[in-house]
Amino acid sequence: MEHNQDSKFEESFLPMTSIGSGIGTLVQPDIYCYTDQIVNLVLVGNPSETKEFVLIDTGMPKSAEEIKEMVQERFGEQARPKAIVLTHGHFDHVGSLVILLEDWNIPVYAHELELPYLTGKKDYPPGDPDVGGLVAKMSPTFPNHGINISAHVQPLPEDGTVPNMPGWKWVHTPGHTPGHISLFREQDRALIAGDAFVTVKQESLYKVMTQTQEISGPPKYFTPDWDMAFESVKKLAALKPQVAVTGHGLPMSGEELSENLNYLVEHFADIGRPESGRYVN
Ligand SMILES: [Zn+2]
Repeated sequence: MEHNQDSKFEESFLPMTSIGSGIGTLVQPDIYCYTDQIVNLVLVGNPSETKEFVLIDTGMPKSAEEIKEMVQERFGEQARPKAIVLTHGHFDHVGSLVILLEDWNIPVYAHELELPYLTGKKDYPPGDPDVGGLVAKMSPTFPNHGINISAHVQPLPEDGTVPNMPGWKWVHTPGHTPGHISLFREQDRALIAGDAFVTVKQESLYKVMTQTQEISGPPKYFTPDWDMAFESVKKLAALKPQVAVTGHGLPMSGEELSENLNYLVEHFADIGRPESGRYVN
């Protein structure tokens, strides 16, 4: 099978953005969340204590320069992460990865089941326009092809540890994609959830643009396995996170987070899963 391997997303033009774009939020002293247009990436590492840090996800296509500037602003000139960890391989999480790797010769870690999409072997299913919302309507035009970073990518360690991130564990949270992972640190109950759940209604263009906070399951147009997605939300709620950075939307913490996450679990059939759509039944 011939796959489109435009790993640099040179053909992709995505005019979507939000009021949060270009803004960074310090979630914990060593967790920095940065919004690139409509997606979040995270730097883990405290610059006043160490020069070593890890980048989680790599933003939209054509954002490499902006991401490098953001990294240098936080960790100093010439700074580069020790590694990149991917929550999953959707275009808005790996958009600038290949260009960044041209500059940074560093390892990339992902779940074993995500590797086919990162080594040019598989494409994701296309976006489903029929799950409601304008972003969903646009989603069939979003790139869904896999990329090829075979020279850099390797599977996360089987014991659940995360290289260069002491104290953190990766948690398999499939459904949105087969090898989707979240990252959890027991010590302060910090969660980096990727798209396992998000804090904005990602299907709604208006809510994305205004970054209106609203607990939501994974982005509906790009989620093919809803039973697994529900299991993954339950798994994350059971960890009782104190603070969460999600792939889209603003960080959430404390009681607001626990109440919203429990609400999502209890009402997943209504607010998580789409009523109808290509991947529902
Ligand atoms: Zn995604």
